[in-house]
Amino acid sequence: MCIFCKIVNKEIPNNTVAENNNFLAFHDLYPKAPIHILIIPKQHVDCFQDVSPETMAGLTAFAQEVATKIGIDKTGYRLITNNGEDGGQEVGHLHFHMLGGGKLVWDHSHEDNHKSL
Ligand code: AMP
Repeated sequence: MCIFCKIVNKEIPNNTVAENNNFLAFHDLYPKAPIHILIIPKQHVDCFQDVSPETMAGLTAFAQEVATKIGIDKTGYRLITNNGEDGGQEVGHLHFHMLGGGKLVWDHSHEDNHKSL
């Protein structure tokens, strides 16, 4: 069972922000912004490339509710998912990073900046 499934099953503690039957939002253990929340489907999906449009519809509504609940819906935030190895995904359970609470930098560096992709 993956680490985020263990969090869903309450085998590993988490700092919950919001949840419903299908989704869970909790604070990232190593925040990279003043607010750094992870939003996941409770049912295991490996990554964005494998998620259904139906699940994404629910996740979108849930993410909007989370932003409103923590008060960054008006000030703004970044919602990103790292997909697969080149995307830098470390946990193999789909998750969106909700980053906010201050002006964010935009840095999309990669290992070889000269290689044309
Ligand atoms: P990614 O690199 O996109 O797969 O992001 C994984 C994220 O999960 C990182 O930001 C980690 O800090 C975070 N993380 C890993 N384990 C935990 C945990 N037990 N509770 C909260 N966040 C975690």
